[in-house]
Parts: sequence; structure tokens; C-alpha cells
Amino acid sequence: MPALRVFYVKKMVVFSKTNQASRKNNHYAEIKLNARAVSRGVAIGKVICLHGRKRQFYRIELNDSQIERELRRFRAAVRLAQSQIKKISANKSEIKAGIFAAHLLILEDKSLLAKIQNNIAEQKVNAEWAVKVVTDTYISNYKTIADEHLRERYIDLEDIADRLLTALGGGGKSNIPMSENSIIVAKDVKPSTLIELTESNPKAIITEKGGWTSHTFILAREMNLPAVTGLKGILRRVQTGDNVIVDGYNGEVILQPNDETYNKYEIAAANFREVNSEEFEAIKGKPKTLDGREITIRANVDLPKGYIRARRFGAEGIGLYRSEFLFNQYKGFPSEQEQIEAYRKIADLVGEDGVRIRTFDLNVEQLADESVEKEQNPALGLRGIRLGLSHHKEFRTQLRALLQASAGNKIDIVLPMISDVSEILLTKEILKQEKNRLRKSKIEIGNPKLGAMIEVPSAVLTIDEIAGEVDFLSLGTNDLVQYLLAVDRDNESVADWFRTLHPAVLRAVKMVLQAAENHEIPAIICGEMAGSPFYAPILVGLGATVLSMNANSILRVRRIISGIAFEEAQEIVKNLEICKTSAEVENLVREIFKEKWSHLFSPDLLPSRKKIRKLEVEN
Ligand code: PEP
Ligand code: MG
Repeated sequence: MPALRVFYVKKMVVFSKTNQASRKNNHYAEIKLNARAVSRGVAIGKVICLHGRKRQFYRIELNDSQIERELRRFRAAVRLAQSQIKKISANKSEIKAGIFAAHLLILEDKSLLAKIQNNIAEQKVNAEWAVKVVTDTYISNYKTIADEHLRERYIDLEDIADRLLTALGGGGKSNIPMSENSIIVAKDVKPSTLIELTESNPKAIITEKGGWTSHTFILAREMNLPAVTGLKGILRRVQTGDNVIVDGYNGEVILQPNDETYNKYEIAAANFREVNSEEFEAIKGKPKTLDGREITIRANVDLPKGYIRARRFGAEGIGLYRSEFLFNQYKGFPSEQEQIEAYRKIADLVGEDGVRIRTFDLNVEQLADESVEKEQNPALGLRGIRLGLSHHKEFRTQLRALLQASAGNKIDIVLPMISDVSEILLTKEILKQEKNRLRKSKIEIGNPKLGAMIEVPSAVLTIDEIAGEVDFLSLGTNDLVQYLLAVDRDNESVADWFRTLHPAVLRAVKMVLQAAENHEIPAIICGEMAGSPFYAPILVGLGATVLSMNANSILRVRRIISGIAFEEAQEIVKNLEICKTSAEVENLVREIFKEKWSHLFSPDLLPSRKKIRKLEVEN
């Protein structure tokens, strides 16, 4: 360990010099902003502003040799967008066809296309940026038109800009990476954008929107990327290139930091890098409570690289593999063969410990082409298992891929968003048919176990029927909290209502664990609750024996489990059962943990009283 420290100190000094040199021109005063911490860690770097609604991008400066290629990329995107519109508008009602005809006219407007191409060539910028700059000007001009009918045309321009940006993302990527030490600032960041940006190795994320359990921040934690959210209007306060510090432990953002602040945070940032260094010694075996109860730790992994880290921290297999993340890699629906390869790759890596692959948990807009009607309420719409059962072709393709990949590999299948046992029975029937077909064609298949995600209240209330038909249960606490409490998990403005320790949630978890025990099948907790040191003792007290979490949480949760007694955890849970509200539960947990286990919890691991009080009536 001492050798490692010297390495980081040296690196720190070099880093410090570069930063101080590059900050010389900075005459602004330091600004400290309070945000909500959603991924731990500290990072120091320079702002890179992300733009775009459907597809996100940032401004890239090109050199002369890159301009011709960029112009070709833009023209290809225009052709793709035009052909999409022609395809979508076929067989549409008169009104809809009229809208698409107007879109096509805009896309054929020579002066608009020329302006965008000139912008690429003269300003030497990427096509995405040129599309934004030019269409923004058109849109603001339209918005000033007095005639209401004409003014509304700006919406068509916004649609066209989105379509062009999406088309630019579908073809050859502008593979010019962002500069080192970039800190992404955006309204929100889509998971697909984050995956696209990983090659450029950003250092942290700052957003206006997004909850703790949103997929973007789940990924950020998996990727070890400090992140904070809840900063309204942040894009108006910063510019690409500004110096910034992100403190993902305390939820702070410091703009234009002064030298004193820099020095303080450089030590914290270096420590963060050290803890996450690849040189960490591997840990083996299950953590045990002080009175001997063993807890299995599995990993939630979406990128194979993530499992390598998780295994070093002692993870035994993958408890949740979100297969829909393949969509980001293949830019659309992955073929049967692509899926087989991806599933085999992850199963090879995991070996005997096995991987539980969840079938696509997408909504209909993500699966189908753009001709599909926008859903008013996608979280309650055609998503998860419902989408699979209504889009048989794609569902069968995935099940066939899973059956083939599981030949010789330990792969289990998990079904998302199950609301009652009928969906399990239907899936079993489809699986049986596909197995027979594959066998008839003499294609080798495995015999994967089948499990249900329990994340919808109706599944909890009918848990006995479901448990009787599956090989295991996977408790998805992110959606379970969302649906039990009717709180959008992605909406930062209702984050104070997203109460993981709501009595209803605790009762639901208990019912599911009890049903699993009665039916003698395993239950695994794989929502973000399992990876929180604050919640883990409660889950253990409720009877959980398998927790699945992202790699970054494993060491902290292991430490807590090894420091508590199962009996104590059970006792705490008994005391919580009489609490009437989440605030009562949270306060009690906080007090008991402080009294019993203050040596295990650093202050930042306990939610602050301020947060707990937030929903009380103010005098
Ligand atoms: C959950 O809902 O808790 C879960 C694990 O799945 P996801 O976060 O992908 O919805
Ligand atoms: Mg879920």
C-alpha cells in the first residue's frame, strides 16, 4: 500500500500544476452549489456541456482533414431521415400524412441544408453541433411570428432536428473523444449517452434531473463515476471549459474553485482513485454476520468489465444482467446471433457462479421504430414482460438466444415487471415451443431456470401463486418503491417521496421473502436498496440471504454485514414494524445505527436529519 500512495501523490502534484496553469486566466469568484449526491467519489475537471433531447451530444472542434468526412456523415443522415419519413408516412391518416409531408419539405429545404453544411465547414464543428446551432436560430425566429398557426411550425423544426441528430447517431460515429478530465453537465443524461461516452473516459456527471434509482445513475455507480443531480438551470450557469469540482459524497459542486479549495479536493480525489485502483487485493468468500449468518453477494452488471471488478470484491456471479443495455451497443434490436454471442461472453466470464439474464425491460418506444404512438405514461404502459408478450417475434428471438447460449453455460432467465402468474404461464408455454423447435432442428440448448422480478404491487399480493411457478424470485426494489408509493423514480422533484423505508415497502419485502421460504426457492434482492450500507442490515434482518449490487457497493456492504449480528438486525426490524410512517422508520433506524454501530457508519452513510424532516409542516 505505501508504494501505491507514493504513486498517487506524484500524480497529484503533476495534476495540480497543470490545473493551476490552466486556471490562470480565471477571474471569477468560486461558487458552491448544493446538489443531491447519487454516485460517490470526488472529481476535478473541466465542464463539457451536453445538449440534445433524444440523442445527446457536445460541441467538437474539427481539424481541416476531418471536415469532408463530417459533411458526408451529415448528408448520409439527411438521406436516412428522409427515407424514414417516407416509410412512416405510408398508410397514415390524412392529418398525420400531412405532418410528415411538411417534415419532408423541411428536410428538402436547400437553404436549411446549405446553412448547416456551411456551419460545419466554416466553424469547423461536428454535424450535431451545426444542426443544433442552425435549427435553434430557425426555431427562435418562428417563435416570434405573430400568426399563431405559423408560429407553431417551430415544433416541426424541433422534430426534424431530433430526427437528424438520431440519424447522425445511427451511422458512423464522430469518434473524436472529449478531452481528458471532462465533467459532463446536462439537463439529464440518457443511459445510452453514458455508454457512448465511456470510451472518452469522463470524470463525473452533474445534472438537473434524475433520481437515485434512475438507470443513468445506476450505471454511473457501476462505472465508478461520481455524480450529483438536482441542480436546476445548471446549463445556464456554466460553459464548456469551466473549472469544476464534483463532490459525490456530500452532494456539492464547486464552480471556478480557488487554489485553497483545489488543494483540499485534490487529496480527496487522489484517495478516491486509490480506493478504486486496479491494484486492490482480491477478496474471496461470503461475508458473515458476527453470529455466523452467511450472505451471498452477487453483482448487478451490464458491462462485462464491471464483473471483473465485482469479482475482485468477492461477488459470486451476476444477480442481474439488464439485457436491454445491448440495445445501446448494437444501436437497435440485436439479432439472435448477436444476442447469443453477448450472453455467452458474459456467461463465460462468470463461469460456475452463473448469470441471471433479465429479458428486455424496455418500453414500446424503445423497441419499435418511430412510427409508434408516444405513450402518455410509459412506466405504466407497454413495457417489460407486457411488451414481450405482445411482440412475440422479438420475445421469441430473445428466448431462443438464451436457450442456445445456456447450453454448457450457467444462465438463468428473469422476467421483468411480472404482475401475476398468468404471464409466467404464458412465457413457459412459449419457452416450451421454442425448445421443441430448436431440438427438432438439432440445435443444442441448455435448461435455464426461470425467475420473476417482483416489482409490481399486484405481484407482491399474489406472491404465493407466482412463487409456485418459478425457480427463484428477484426483488426489484427500485420499481417496487416507485409503484407501491406511486413516485416516479426518475423525477428529481418527487425524490423526497421516494422512501425506500416506507412501512409499505418493508411489509412487501417481508411478504416476498416469506413466500420464497415457504416455497423453498431462493429470493435475491437486486434493486439499489441491496447495495446501500444503510438498508443492508434491514434486509438482512428481514431474512434476505442473497443481495445483488453494483461493484462499487460491495466493499461497503460487506464491511457492514461483517460488523453486525443477525439477531440484532432481526430485533431492529421488529421495532420498525410498529412505525407508521417512513419518517418514523428512518429516524428510528438512524438512531439505532448511531447507538449500536457508529463505528461502522461514517456520517455520510447515514441520511441527514434535514432530509428526513423535509416533508414535515413548517411553522
Ligand atoms: C428494480 O426495479 O429494482 C430493478 C432491479 O430493475 P431496474 O432498476 O432495471 O428497473
Ligand atoms: Mg425494475
